[in-house]
Amino acid sequence: MSTTDRAGWRERAAAFAPTTTLRIDGREVSADASLPDHTPRDGSLLGDVPLAGPAEVDLAVGAARRAFDDGCWADAAPAHRKRVLLRFAELVREHTEELALAETLDTGKPIRESLQVDVPTCADVIAWYAEAIDKHYDLVAPTGPGALATITRRPLGVVAAVVPWNYPLIITSWKIGPALAAGNSVIVKPAEQSPSSALILARLGAEAGLPDGVLTVLSGDGPTTGAALGRHDGVDKVGFTGSVEVGRLFHRYSGESNGKAVAVEAGGKSAQLVLPDADLEAAASAIAWGIFYNAGQTCHAGSRVVVDRAVHDELVGRVVDLAKTFTVGDPLDPDTVLGAIVDRTQLDRVVGYLDLARSTGVRVASGGSVLEPVVGGTYVEPTVLDGVANSSRLAQEEIFGPVLSVIECDGAEEGVRLANATRFELAASVWTRDVSVAHRTAAALRAGTVWVNTFDAASVTTPFGGGGDTGGGRDRSLAALEAYSAPKTTWFAL
Ligand code: NAD
Repeated sequence: MSTTDRAGWRERAAAFAPTTTLRIDGREVSADASLPDHTPRDGSLLGDVPLAGPAEVDLAVGAARRAFDDGCWADAAPAHRKRVLLRFAELVREHTEELALAETLDTGKPIRESLQVDVPTCADVIAWYAEAIDKHYDLVAPTGPGALATITRRPLGVVAAVVPWNYPLIITSWKIGPALAAGNSVIVKPAEQSPSSALILARLGAEAGLPDGVLTVLSGDGPTTGAALGRHDGVDKVGFTGSVEVGRLFHRYSGESNGKAVAVEAGGKSAQLVLPDADLEAAASAIAWGIFYNAGQTCHAGSRVVVDRAVHDELVGRVVDLAKTFTVGDPLDPDTVLGAIVDRTQLDRVVGYLDLARSTGVRVASGGSVLEPVVGGTYVEPTVLDGVANSSRLAQEEIFGPVLSVIECDGAEEGVRLANATRFELAASVWTRDVSVAHRTAAALRAGTVWVNTFDAASVTTPFGGGGDTGGGRDRSLAALEAYSAPKTTWFAL
């Protein structure tokens, strides 16, 4: 189907239904309970997905452990594992339209983005880790000629990947790509709002040749399915992306069970620092895209702008002009760039922040209203809040909507101080034409990723994550491959 065929997408959406069974250990399993899956596009029910309870979690962990112990994946030849994962990536590409439709209906993100960004990125990430498998060499320690000690990397065992709803396919691929490449058995727990694409991935993984038990997707809710995985003694590591609060719960689950490793990637309140000599046209464009892409539901969204007083008015004027070009529309319309907010709970949360802005005298420079381009759906106008105090909740808490907070500063030093005055350390940017200032400021910004005169440059080749309340975990790059394996030392008597 052409990506510009509106009627076609609506017709396919009307016929869409999420998967109703789980696939555990190569068999279709019906869970006792189910979970309604609604689309934020118009609020309608897409269908019910299985809610995996403790019995299904036990079954999946048991199958994952058996597969790990019998070595069918962990000890298979690297070239074989590479072939299977490359085939998996190819199948993801071949099913682009099916996956993109599922992603857009579950999350409300524009179909154009699902087709052009989310599905291809998922395939590329799996393929990148597949390619890494047979290019990895282990180490011989520099012990001297009297002894031989090798250091090999071994998979951890059973890995649970617990993912959020904002980029279900991409974040799932960031976990399963390196975890499967390293030789682990993996159980994915998608968010309750967006289970469909992961359930399709489970089918494609099996079709690609992953042995039974090696990749399982368990749809379900956090307190039942997520907690059962977090507390399970048979799980060796949890790779979690989501909120700070739930990330901390996983550390607690670990402490109360087998002390499993936990890697957390939580949120951000990323600042874009704009200095007086910046290219304001480029900065304004990056600021608009940085907050309005995916309706602001991005952990590293550039949700704070810290701008020097000298260029404040011009910059805000440009961003406001651009905000008006981000028309909110039906996610199934191939021209839409700003789709829906994932559900009513999240919409209410965003509206709460808009009310807070009005009640505290913050200037709403643009937007600020709830819209309904599709009846029953959950949508918010792209919004620019000006004159925000950096200490206010609007500048400190994740709004997770298309809402930008603008904060003024006097010079680079104060700008860095304000940009760093947050409990998160995920990402930040600086805009200046002065190379020395750029260098100094980039070094001083406390964030896992800093962009200079750009925003959101991303690649599987670079690590992603950050310290503070962001949690400390890292996805992407060879760092993630290491994170899903452990060094093993073997001494040989010579
Ligand atoms: P969330 O923490 O509510 O949910 C994330 C996952 O945890 C879901 O799968 C959910 O079912 C599960 N979960 C929820 N409650 C649980 C519980 N009590 N026990 C076990 N599991 C539980 O987060 P969300 O609302 O789905 O996602 C939004 C958050 O994710 C934002 O804070 C955002 O910044 C963050 N995020 C971070 C990154 C990153 O890479 N750093 C990426 C995307 C999203």
